[in-house]
Amino acid sequence: MSGPPPPYPGGPAYPVDNKGVPPPVQYPPPGPPPPGYPAHPGYPQQTGQPYGVPGQPGYTQGQTSTTVVVQQPTIAVVQQFREAPVQTQCPHCAAQIVTATHYDNGTFTWVICLILCLVGCDFFCCLIPFCVDGCKDVIHTCPNCKAMVARWSRM
Ligand SMILES: [Zn+2]
Repeated sequence: MSGPPPPYPGGPAYPVDNKGVPPPVQYPPPGPPPPGYPAHPGYPQQTGQPYGVPGQPGYTQGQTSTTVVVQQPTIAVVQQFREAPVQTQCPHCAAQIVTATHYDNGTFTWVICLILCLVGCDFFCCLIPFCVDGCKDVIHTCPNCKAMVARWSRM
């Protein structure tokens, strides 16, 4: 009569306590399991989804919604009547127009004429400002109804 064979031929593969019960399987600490590691019981099952609930603050997703901002030309926003034609709406016929410009004698023209007289220029030199567009006011008119839209004075 031979004795009972050793419980584990070749020696135990792992330490055995006094009761002969193998130690419980050591699970990794709570946390995101490494890739490929199956989720153990008791731990929330990972479905590969990012953390958070869609629609809740802090929810992150791989693709983010991009808002396309269309830049509007600022020429229509800031209507500043100067020497250049301006795209605007005619207050008379309510049409979208680009104003037609022409020059007219204004206060600045007469001031330049007076200054030329004071510094001793002769009569014809005093008339130079009336021939130079840079000394005149700018009149913006509507090309549709020919009405004056705005007048830009240099003074
Ligand atoms: Zn008009």
